[in-house]
Amino acid sequence: MSSEHAGDFDVIVSGAGPAGLAAAALCAEQGLKTAIITGPADPFEKRHDARTIALMRPSIRLLEHLELFAPLKKVSNPLVKLRLVDDTGGLFSAPTATFDARDAGWEAFGWNIPLEDLHPALAKKARELGVEFIRDSALGVAPERKRLARLRLASGKELAAPVIIAADGRRSPIRESARMITFKHDYDQVALGCFFNHSAHHDDMSTEYHKPQGPFTTVPMHGGHRSSLVWMVRPEKARAILKMDADELARHIQIESHGDLGAISNPTPPQSFPMQTMVAHDFAKDRIILVGEAAHAVPPIGAQGLNMSLRDAALAAELIGDAFAFGEDIGGEKIMHDYDRIRRRDIFPRKMAIHLVNSALLSNFLPYQAVRAGAITLAAKVPVIRDIIMRQGLAPSNEHVPRIMREEEQADAAA
Ligand SMILES: Cc1cc2nc3c(=O)[nH]c(=O)nc-3n(C[C@H](O)[C@H](O)[C@H](O)COP(=O)(O)OP(=O)(O)OC[C@H]3O[C@@H](n4cnc5c(N)ncnc54)[C@H](O)[C@@H]3O)c2cc1C
Repeated sequence: MSSEHAGDFDVIVSGAGPAGLAAAALCAEQGLKTAIITGPADPFEKRHDARTIALMRPSIRLLEHLELFAPLKKVSNPLVKLRLVDDTGGLFSAPTATFDARDAGWEAFGWNIPLEDLHPALAKKARELGVEFIRDSALGVAPERKRLARLRLASGKELAAPVIIAADGRRSPIRESARMITFKHDYDQVALGCFFNHSAHHDDMSTEYHKPQGPFTTVPMHGGHRSSLVWMVRPEKARAILKMDADELARHIQIESHGDLGAISNPTPPQSFPMQTMVAHDFAKDRIILVGEAAHAVPPIGAQGLNMSLRDAALAAELIGDAFAFGEDIGGEKIMHDYDRIRRRDIFPRKMAIHLVNSALLSNFLPYQAVRAGAITLAAKVPVIRDIIMRQGLAPSNEHVPRIMREEEQADAAA
């Protein structure tokens, strides 16, 4: 760090969710003096979370890079098949589309990892790599950020660094204080998450049943007879589901999944998550880089949220690390510009695709439904389109994927 830019740290990350922890770990491993402001929750504590995270191959490579995948694999399940079932019962209905990773020459599209295991594992790795954990909450940044960004904390302390990574969730106080504007769309919908057991083997397949109130998605968990559920419904229906006892909920899951997983039992109490699309106008500006849900939030359709966030984290660390290695300003204009340009090409089309799928399901407008059914029919019937969807669903093309998440980079590193 040049003395001109000397702050308390090289990099300060605000927010110790999975995106912030990954960014902090990847900065620290490059020799950057890195701190993370944890916010109210203890990131090392294993707390039950009703979400499992389907992490696709590029994200798995990030975990491999951090030597985290081998231990996490023991609690994860491969995602070998992804199935889309048109369950709208509408005038236009599409055939079932099944995507098989082996058709693309892969062992699996990715792995489904319980968030309650992934989160503390990332925290421990960040600490091992030398990240300083600060149990405090960020209030905001000072408006003048010519040479350094100054962060105000709830304890009254102030910390400065040439660059701040805001990973403090969708209501990011850093982003708000920096007056970085966002575009939001609230859906009249709630996502419910829980785990459940089933008598039939899940065959390493995730099924997204498209229903009139939103997708009902089962995702295979470790052991073959357990899955997680993401059920998107209108708020009124969500309230009714949240009141159900375990037997009643199991019956409903069985009906909605058409018995595909056999007899359903022991669902965990569902947790609810409000549904919103949110995207920042700028992803980096004036020494502030937005990652994870501070930059974008999307409904849980097609397992995109944290996969995009890990690409944010890896790219931020890569650009900062490269500038550091060359003795350049690690929060300079070039980094802000490159980060914003590269992430924009990944985030905007995905956000738009998810919004269109969800809106088409909720819409009663027939032409809209016809287009949705037509798109699924093409995916089901035309192998070349299925292949494009499989590859693009995983990640953008290589040039926009951070180095540590690219397949050939690891092959090179291993050589
Ligand atoms: C039901 C469901 C299923 C999902 N499934 C998938 C999936 O299969 N695949 C996928 O890729 N994604 C999935 N997602 C999305 C994924 O869960 C989120 O993208 C991810 O957890 C967000 O991580 P984050 O680190 O960006 O944000 P968060 O986890 O919200 O972390 C933000 C952190 O900032 C902290 N914080 C807040 N305020 C402050 C402050 N003032 N100072 C310091 N810290 C602060 C918070 O305490 C928190 O720790 C799913 C989401 C849902 C709802």
